Amino acid sequence: MKPKPTSEFIWDYAPAPESTDHVKIESRYGLFINGKFVAPKSKKYFGTYNPATDEKLADIAEANAADVDLAFSAAHNAYEKVWKKMPPKERAKYIFRIARVIQERARELSVIESMDGGKPIRESRDFDIPTAANHFFYYAGWADKLDYAFPNRKPKSLGVVAQIIPWNFPLLMAAWKIAPALATGNTVVLKPAESTSLSALKLAEIIRDCDLPPGVVNIITGFADTGKAMVTHPQANKIAFTGSTDVGKYIQKATAGTNKKLTLELGGKAAHIIFDDAPINQAVEGIVNGIFFNQGHVCCAGSRLFLQENVADEVIRKLKDRMKTLIVGDPLDKNTDIGAINNKQQLEKINKYLKIGLEEGLEIYQSDCVLPKKGCFCKPTLFLNVAQSNRIMQEEIFGPVLAIQTFRTIEEVIEKANNTPYGLSAGVWTDKGAKIFHLTSKLKAGVVWANTYNKFDPTSPFGGYKESGFGREGGLHGLMGYLDM
Ligand code: NAP
Ligand code: MG
Repeated sequence: MKPKPTSEFIWDYAPAPESTDHVKIESRYGLFINGKFVAPKSKKYFGTYNPATDEKLADIAEANAADVDLAFSAAHNAYEKVWKKMPPKERAKYIFRIARVIQERARELSVIESMDGGKPIRESRDFDIPTAANHFFYYAGWADKLDYAFPNRKPKSLGVVAQIIPWNFPLLMAAWKIAPALATGNTVVLKPAESTSLSALKLAEIIRDCDLPPGVVNIITGFADTGKAMVTHPQANKIAFTGSTDVGKYIQKATAGTNKKLTLELGGKAAHIIFDDAPINQAVEGIVNGIFFNQGHVCCAGSRLFLQENVADEVIRKLKDRMKTLIVGDPLDKNTDIGAINNKQQLEKINKYLKIGLEEGLEIYQSDCVLPKKGCFCKPTLFLNVAQSNRIMQEEIFGPVLAIQTFRTIEEVIEKANNTPYGLSAGVWTDKGAKIFHLTSKLKAGVVWANTYNKFDPTSPFGGYKESGFGREGGLHGLMGYLDM
């Protein structure tokens, strides 16, 4: 490792790509229905691509309404004939087994997650896959203790649940959805996002190899039409959705007037607040982690930064210095900080917002890193001197783009932070505990991190306010959405 002569900040790291030899990707995947991979009735397949190289990884089945129907029949039969009757402690053993096998196959799952979705291997290896396993471990523990979790309320399972997930944390979102549903005695039909189906299909293999009774978990792939058919299916007793606010609104309308239960985890535009008494160096790491982590493809990303006026210059200087050291490139390289943007449409959306910021006359800063010639990549970006009315301050970009404002008083920052239709998360950095408690009661956000950012734990509930949705995932609260009581 030697410093590059051109810059005092950049170090030249030797390439350290993770090997892909141990990864087995089939050329074509069917739908996982009733414990088996089956060819789709639609007879249609679509390609899934590596966004860092544009290379096609596999063909994936596109489920039509007839395929969706088969998946729900399988889930319904499995619920009535097997899962509903199984003693909870036996259900727990299956969930525990899935967790163990995810741990055993963690390396393979991490590489697949990075190849199919573009996230740095460090993220998938150290965060996504271990946290997915932890969710299964955690909910395995609850399966036979529901009467203690909700005393005197006689919790009952709902039946078949439909689960639809986005592309930003493919395996982790599948775990967030499937683990509590199984622990509460429900059976599942799950659809991953079209650009990141592979890790969910690998999870289907794991579920099959764990001998989970056929039909308890069905994993089907496809586009929006597949999702629509799931949401309106008469056998779906509950819909659990994570994704964009627009689709969330559509689903809420589509299920209105039915007795389907619904939980929605939608978009966000989190406020990240730095007071002048904060530990500045740690706060800068928190900011970087909050917005550049996972290319900003995080619903709770700290995409609006509020700096107390007297430390703003120092924070911005240190943030720019830190950005110069961020390595953007090959997701499979262990040194990479920022991987590939998940898909072409998302890169176009981010670039559209960069243009809007410039057209609105904002000052932009980007690190001078060189982007790879092929694939979908974006430089980490700051917009300075932003106003509340600027579109990049109001709208969710879902990329490594940070809008910065300053403030003087605590009342001012609370008002600015809450001035958004979203309410998923927020972060605050200060030395004063009293200030933290004051803010947590005033910020309209489901999660508020203090002196840290983007920390997740299966035992802790997560979810939104306002247009960020409703319902909680994780912790004891995460069981409630899957129970009738
Ligand atoms: P999306 O369009 O909301 O998709 C999420 C999931 O819903 C995908 O599995 C999608 O399938 C499916 N879907 C799409 N239209 C549907 C419909 N009418 N009925 C039922 N299911 C439907 O989100 P996206 O395309 O992945 O990303 C678009 C934007 O959503 C992002 O730019 C970002 O702003 C936001 N987003 C938020 C989160 C979050 O965690 N809050 C995560 C990802 C994205 P297909 O993938 O096949 O379309
Ligand atoms: Mg892909």
